[in-house]
Amino acid sequence: MLIAHLPAGFLLTYGFIQRQKRVGSQPISTKKITALWIAGLLFSVLPDFDMLYFTFVDSRYHHHLLFPHLPIFWLGLLPLLYALTLHPTLRAMRSFVHLLSLNIALHLILDTWAGDIWWLYPWSTDPIALITVPATQSHWVWSFMLHWSFIPELFIVAAALALLIKQRKNNAAKKQ
Ligand SMILES: [Zn+2]
Repeated sequence: MLIAHLPAGFLLTYGFIQRQKRVGSQPISTKKITALWIAGLLFSVLPDFDMLYFTFVDSRYHHHLLFPHLPIFWLGLLPLLYALTLHPTLRAMRSFVHLLSLNIALHLILDTWAGDIWWLYPWSTDPIALITVPATQSHWVWSFMLHWSFIPELFIVAAALALLIKQRKNNAAKKQ
């Protein structure tokens, strides 16, 4: 997925915060809402930080083979983070761990759409991709952008933009 991770994370974080507002026993503070927004948007692109390693250190292997894109890494780390939130002083962090889990799952699912994700690693070294984009252009980015599988990305971006505009209008109306 090329451009839709952040917009998809925006939609997911919006839904998550709306749900937190509905189900929480106490009203959620503005400070926590801001923190959830920042965390949610960051979590949505977190696995792609491995591109820095790929670009500047070692580009011999597909960056999806680095640990931030390996489901087994998150399957090991997330239960550990949940366990930490059992401690009373860290209980407030649980919603952030929920948000991290959801965003990582969404990121890896979206990357499986037209890119390889090693879902069964280390039991299998075969990547899984729903669609294989053929290299029709001189640069792989153009091959992806000119393939029909890019259309859902545009829909995700459009949905996020529509929600952003609606939210801004609502906020403006509240201020009046
Ligand atoms: Zn990715």
